[in-house]
Amino acid sequence: MPARPIDLHAHTSVSDGTETPSQLVRAAAEAGLGTIAITDHDSTAGWQEAFTAAEGTGLTIIPGMELSTNYGPASVHMLAYLFDPLNAEIVTETARIRDGRLHRAERIVERIAADYDLTWDDVIAESSDGTTLGRPHIADALVRKGHVPNRSAAFESILHWRGSYYEKYYAPSPLEGVRMIVAAGGVPVLAHPATYGKYRPMTDSVIRKLADEGLFGLEIDHRDNTHDGKERLRVLASKLGLEITGASDYHGVGKPNLLGENTTTPDVLEKLIARGTGSAPFAG
Ligand code: AMP
Ligand code: FE
Ligand code: FE
Ligand code: ZN
Repeated sequence: MPARPIDLHAHTSVSDGTETPSQLVRAAAEAGLGTIAITDHDSTAGWQEAFTAAEGTGLTIIPGMELSTNYGPASVHMLAYLFDPLNAEIVTETARIRDGRLHRAERIVERIAADYDLTWDDVIAESSDGTTLGRPHIADALVRKGHVPNRSAAFESILHWRGSYYEKYYAPSPLEGVRMIVAAGGVPVLAHPATYGKYRPMTDSVIRKLADEGLFGLEIDHRDNTHDGKERLRVLASKLGLEITGASDYHGVGKPNLLGENTTTPDVLEKLIARGTGSAPFAG
């Protein structure tokens, strides 16, 4: 019997996914997946609910997170697996990032409200309590108000990072991120490293430094990576001894990405589990 698919990147309503952790787990089980990682932005708040929901489904949950980092003007996402969620530095740093995101979202909304009918309450209405707030929640409020047809359209217009309403939020550097994840017993994987066009923040030499610090792998099989970028990264991964992962980056109905559309091989998952010492997979 072929191994059931392994999808190591998915979001829930704990960040900018549209399904609760329980709904995500149910959807993954229904899609026939064998393993799914719950990787909300800068938060581990969905882990316990996902474990509970997985009981009896036969699905394995890899506890994870997508840590925000900043490299110059670029927002660089670092997947983290199997780290200790109570590690002091992880707890403090992710709280700082979430707080920065909240205030940044307030300022973005304030600026948009000068030109469009939109209030902070509209945005709060699109997010669950304690969620890691992001532009997707503002996008959902803009959709609800009829200003744009969907999230993608909001990102291409009002919420574009080059637009006048945009601003960044605090995050550590990718190198600090890798160090912090490794120190918490976790396994860092650079998320969708080739989604950029001409401007390429994650050059070969930057990735080499991350590898020296303990980076485990590159998420090459992801729909947003460019074709040329994937080719380049496969060569680099082999040169640096980095593993290759694939995943959907599922966000419920918030993005077209479908569960299991990209997957990771069982041997890479085995190595990842062997490397992670801060928390354990949950076999449901
Ligand atoms: P933020 O973290 O607030 O800067 O917003 C970035 C998040 O928005 C990413 O994690 C993506 O999940 C989401 N996102 C980016 N581009 C799009 C898009 N075109 N359509 C839907 N969601 C998007
Ligand atoms: Fe997201
Ligand atoms: Fe991401
Ligand atoms: Zn993601």
